[in-house]
Amino acid sequence: MKKHTRVVVIGGGIVGASMLYHLTKLGWSDVVLVERKQLTAGSTWHAAGGFHSMNSDPNVARLQAYTISVYTEVEEISGQDVGMHLAGGITTAATPARWEVLRYEHERHKVIGIDSHLIGPEEIRKLCPIMDTSKIIGGLFDANEGHIDPYGSTHAFAKSARMAGAEIYLNTMVEDLVHKPDGSWTVVTDKGNIECEHIVNAAGLWAREVGQMAAVHVPIVPMEHHYLITESIPEVAEFDGELPLILDMDGEMYLRQEQNGVLLGVYEKNSTPWSVGGTSWDYAESDLLNPRLDDIETALLAGFERFPAVAEAGIRRMVNGPFTFAPDGNPLMGPVRGVQNYWSCCGVMAGFSQGSGVALALSQWMINGESEGDIFAMDVNRFGAYATKTYSIEKAKEFYENRFHLLCPNEEWPAARPNKVSALHDRLQAANAVFGSSYGLEVPLWFAPGGSAPTETPSFRHSNAHEPVGEECRAVRDSVGILDSSSIAKYEISGADALSYMDKLFASRLPNPGRARMGPLLSPSGHLKGDMTVMRLAEDKFMVTGSGYLQEFHMLWFEQHSAGKKVRIVNRTEELSTIAIAGPQSRELLSLLVSAPVDNASMPFMSVHTMDVGMASCLVVRLSFTGELGYEIYVSTVYACSIYDSLLKAGARLGIRAFGIRALVSLGMEKSFGIWSREFTPDYTPAMSGLSRFVDYGKANFVGREAALLDRETKPEHRLVTLEIDSKNADAWGYEPIWQQDELAGFVTSGAYGHTVKKSLALAYLKTPFLESPNNEFSVQVIDKRVPATILAEAPYDPSGSKMRS
Ligand SMILES: Cc1cc2nc3c(=O)[nH]c(=O)nc-3n(C[C@H](O)[C@H](O)[C@H](O)COP(=O)(O)OP(=O)(O)OC[C@H]3O[C@@H](n4cnc5c(N)ncnc54)[C@H](O)[C@@H]3O)c2cc1C
Repeated sequence: MKKHTRVVVIGGGIVGASMLYHLTKLGWSDVVLVERKQLTAGSTWHAAGGFHSMNSDPNVARLQAYTISVYTEVEEISGQDVGMHLAGGITTAATPARWEVLRYEHERHKVIGIDSHLIGPEEIRKLCPIMDTSKIIGGLFDANEGHIDPYGSTHAFAKSARMAGAEIYLNTMVEDLVHKPDGSWTVVTDKGNIECEHIVNAAGLWAREVGQMAAVHVPIVPMEHHYLITESIPEVAEFDGELPLILDMDGEMYLRQEQNGVLLGVYEKNSTPWSVGGTSWDYAESDLLNPRLDDIETALLAGFERFPAVAEAGIRRMVNGPFTFAPDGNPLMGPVRGVQNYWSCCGVMAGFSQGSGVALALSQWMINGESEGDIFAMDVNRFGAYATKTYSIEKAKEFYENRFHLLCPNEEWPAARPNKVSALHDRLQAANAVFGSSYGLEVPLWFAPGGSAPTETPSFRHSNAHEPVGEECRAVRDSVGILDSSSIAKYEISGADALSYMDKLFASRLPNPGRARMGPLLSPSGHLKGDMTVMRLAEDKFMVTGSGYLQEFHMLWFEQHSAGKKVRIVNRTEELSTIAIAGPQSRELLSLLVSAPVDNASMPFMSVHTMDVGMASCLVVRLSFTGELGYEIYVSTVYACSIYDSLLKAGARLGIRAFGIRALVSLGMEKSFGIWSREFTPDYTPAMSGLSRFVDYGKANFVGREAALLDRETKPEHRLVTLEIDSKNADAWGYEPIWQQDELAGFVTSGAYGHTVKKSLALAYLKTPFLESPNNEFSVQVIDKRVPATILAEAPYDPSGSKMRS
């Protein structure tokens, strides 16, 4: 066994083995994998091995497609049979709503690059003759789906990695992890110690325990899961070909061929978290859990109804095994904040669809300093301290039981809520707010009319929120609106080196003291890493704000760049509340509660002030995310209610009205304001996104400068535009294709109805040649229709920005 190595990967399941292979593939060969038993000894050995490339998140879908492509690669390298069955897969719909969504997905696949096909019940029956398709409306066929042998594929990765120089130590237990002052690690095993630079937690079912060795909380929960394998079924044995992988979404089950029988798996409603107190080290590859037949009976009966031959066949084997779920069902990968050189590579619920995508992205991150593209959906730093054990159990259970739920874009899931609430929560609730959840915090989405229930009907079309949101928008445009925007992340950065630190970190010029400025962050490759607002409170003191759900993501980035600097970085998000007021009457409103002058000369656009508002000392910033005159008031949480009440009372005669995030999105869309995670992600550069107008290219040194200069010189392949869409009762949502005749011209990043301009609008990336052509006739797929769309030359509302500067 080596005494020193660069990386120790802990865990030899499909994910750890693929991770080891990808480190070698990307150039690091001095790497080892430590496995306490044999390869596949965790969840991997009893997996059904099914894989599919479809995923509602396009970046996850891309990595899933990559995962599938890499199996043949390792089979060829290693000579180890991976047991590939590329039989194709069909996702079926048994309800009109599901069928509509599948057809919508099919359109989005054209953007993502998935070659799927819509097929009818007859064709489904031809491909899967044991399926009763009498209740099936249609399906989405993807030839790039199937199943794989868990043992063969794991060994193929392991052998390919070994051939490239990696070493694997089986029957070797990692017992402890010691973090050394220089950031490197001692991995303590029962066979001796290994000194290494990096560790990768790929311990699957034991990821929580391996996390604890470095005091890292891993928010995953193993869930029990059943499938059965039948004896030979005559129709299957006689079938000329192989049955495809069936994902029966409305039946909440999946099926594939296994020899001359089938494997049928179910996602039951009364799910069972497993070993919530921790996974025993004694649980081993020979163990299976006792089937809970009572719990899965309803789900199984649904399966027998859809596949009558399965009901007739003898059951050869019933498997109940555990595998891990993060609260949202996505993997937990990436560097763990505050624990240098510790990399998370766990929570991979669908290891055979996602394992190599995770391994590729993580290897890129470790070796190149960043992953390619936007992998935030899988980033371990999307969760914060709120994702406690109890929270994770409730959420994992909710996710498992809704694995095939038809999720509408306006839908919010209820488990583990409310938990984290803002200081104003009771007041918002009393005003009939409909809440969403962001980073565990309850946020007001919109306000339901008095007397009606504060709930929103899940829909892809305009919901019952449409009219009330319109009224909120009009209040902001015509008089004044008030928003509890406490979810905004707030970081205070100060200290002797604060100025030079901030200047290096941000691609923009820094504001002068008392001023604010939009501040993009770039990665070394020149892709977007953040879109923040930088406020200069003093010569060496800044307040930086951004999207609340990115707190760990931001803090990790800030801290990674602070080594050796005299800076103090404090996340003040939870101690400060934020109240935004916006609208032509907002100055008048503010003047009623402050004694300082608030006229445009005293308090110009983008100025920052410390002043008393009502009875509390606040930071007041003249900002606008609505396109109207507006202010953000930052105040210690204990004073938030007092200020909110004072503003409501004073604003009554001005027609003040509370508004929510939905109205904010609509108002911002009318101004062509992009938002993080949609228009601004690591997929894009300043030149593509238009954020170049905030980049100070003349600055001597900032993260990503060289790449940004190159980006400025290069014609971007696509650019952000605003579209007006001729759609009446629905708006685009994201990743819908944009066509010019039959040519794919681009894709939507987000859409919303502009209640003031009375138009359906969208932000979209359009391929540059289409922007240079005089032809401005496009069409966009909105749910079930291609509707006409045109590019707008300027923002639909107040393009000169005169209102927010007034
Ligand atoms: C019944 C069932 C059906 C499934 N069907 C599918 C499917 O069809 N498709 C799909 O994609 N996924 C499926 N899955 C999920 C799939 O099994 C997992 O996504 C995958 O196996 C996770 O792999 P992993 O490498 O992360 O973890 P694991 O397989 O749990 O591997 C972790 C490894 O780490 C080792 N380890 C842990 N701690 C230590 C330590 N301290 N020292 C040394 N070694 C350690 C363990 O021994 C183990 O081998 C299924 C799971 C189950 C249970």
